[in-house]
Amino acid sequence: MMQLLADRIRKDGVVKQGNVLKVDSFLNHQMDIELINEIGKEFKRLFADCNITKIVTIEASGIGIACIAAQYFQVPVVFAKKSQSVNIDGEVYSTQIESYTHKKTYEVIISKKFISSDDHVLIIDDFLANGCALIGLIELVTCAGATVEGIGIVVEKGFQSGGEVIRSMGMRLESLAIVDGMNAETGEIFFRE
Ligand code: 5GP
Repeated sequence: MMQLLADRIRKDGVVKQGNVLKVDSFLNHQMDIELINEIGKEFKRLFADCNITKIVTIEASGIGIACIAAQYFQVPVVFAKKSQSVNIDGEVYSTQIESYTHKKTYEVIISKKFISSDDHVLIIDDFLANGCALIGLIELVTCAGATVEGIGIVVEKGFQSGGEVIRSMGMRLESLAIVDGMNAETGEIFFRE
């Protein structure tokens, strides 16, 4: 666990109804770049043994975190785009992702130009809940014939199924903080040690 992050979540995270943890004062709306810089450094430390060639994330909230991490890996970031139009020309990899926070299904795409079978990919995202976002990203990367070397998550909600699903796929998943429980009445947040 990344202590600095857990301390910050305890201090500024807000527990909402429906098992939603708001971290928008420092992570995914207003962004504390000093903290996110430490997050980027920690991902580099955790995946130092991997020969990463690209970081893949999803818009919008993953992008800033991925970009700062990418400076430590010195690789490009590719973000999956939520697309409006149907893929008719075959120039993109596409999949459907169900949004946990918006309860909507999105089509997400990555252009075939920006990911290839030579790539060794680190997937980065802010939250892991039921795993829909990650499964979609893994699918896009796999469709391109690239290798998923690992997955870096800032906050995993350990009481939801995503972590288990992803780990049981044999993926190397590193979450910087795992929340095992939250109480919307008291605002308490319980971390896995
Ligand atoms: P999943 O696809 O794993 O169910 O959900 C992951 C996505 O939903 C993340 O990209 C994140 O944007 C959003 N999300 C899920 N749970 C939370 C939460 O508790 N708080 C916030 N801020 N976003 C969440």
